[in-house]
Amino acid sequence: MNLQQINEIIEKEPAFRKKQIEKLIYGDAIDDFDKATVLSLKLREELKEKVSLKIEAEVFKSKNTKKALITLSDGLKIETVLMKHEDRTTVCVSSQVGCALKCKFCATGKLGLKRNLTSEEILEQVLFFKRTENINNVVFMGMGEPFLNYDNVLEAIRTLNNENAFNIGARHISISTVGIIEGINKLSNEKLQVNLAISLHAPNNKKRTKIMPISEKYTLEAILTAVNKYIKKTNRKVMFEYTLMENVNSSLTDAKELAKIMRRPLYLVNLIKYNNTEDFKAPSIETIKKFKGYLEKGGIYVTERYRFGGDIHAACGQLCLKK
Ligand code: SAH
Repeated sequence: MNLQQINEIIEKEPAFRKKQIEKLIYGDAIDDFDKATVLSLKLREELKEKVSLKIEAEVFKSKNTKKALITLSDGLKIETVLMKHEDRTTVCVSSQVGCALKCKFCATGKLGLKRNLTSEEILEQVLFFKRTENINNVVFMGMGEPFLNYDNVLEAIRTLNNENAFNIGARHISISTVGIIEGINKLSNEKLQVNLAISLHAPNNKKRTKIMPISEKYTLEAILTAVNKYIKKTNRKVMFEYTLMENVNSSLTDAKELAKIMRRPLYLVNLIKYNNTEDFKAPSIETIKKFKGYLEKGGIYVTERYRFGGDIHAACGQLCLKK
């Protein structure tokens, strides 16, 4: 897809034309300007000639999940996942091509960072699925670190939010971060009701640094301080993602330590079963149950998410790495 030419083409058109085209492309999700019958034939023809609405993607399907490997205009590839839940459909978008953070358990980390995505490329991912499905939620939990591409991510969120475009409520949009403190601080000033999630994955900084080297720069303590400030300012819940890995972070001692730091108002722990890779494995269901039970007994608000699409390598970066 390539929308850059549009502004030039409609330069001499009345101001509302831009909104009209935004509505057609993002709101009505047209995939061909022939369908833009509200526009004059002349304008339609010119748009058709100079602007591409085609999204090049390879799709992999499993039971409740579809994964698209999208090729960008410079040939780089990114992953986008569609997850169907009983009551809603979520698109999981990438914010960067690859990632610079090198979390040990994450396939995207192995790719390194290629570049940031533009806001248009972020939107393209949601649009790809919107053309065939009704989308209710968007989560920034694909490849990359959204807070290291802050401006483009926020610009994309504004268009997702925009009634004239995607019309997805801010409460239905979540940003997941390893805990980039500047990003947490900035988000708290946006007056946007998007959800914040922190990828925690360890109950103390020593352990966390071993699997997430970024913890040397942004320590767990500093992240929690920033989160508390965020909560004070926004009065919004914060979700801590904790991916359980065997012999890494799933012992009862880990649960005990985690319970201690998570026992706070508006903190929510989301346990995720690890999608196995060559280097790490998920613990047994029994271990997960015990871990969860311990947190619950400790009065922690905890939910559990089973990873969708393990069979289509739907976990972060797995498909790109395979290719
Ligand atoms: N960089 C941001 C956004 C990516 S979110 C962040 O880390 O929050 C992707 C989530 O999937 C992260 O919580 C990451 O830790 C998790 N993840 C990565 N590989 C996984 C795997 N194999 N199984 C389960 N979760 C995984």
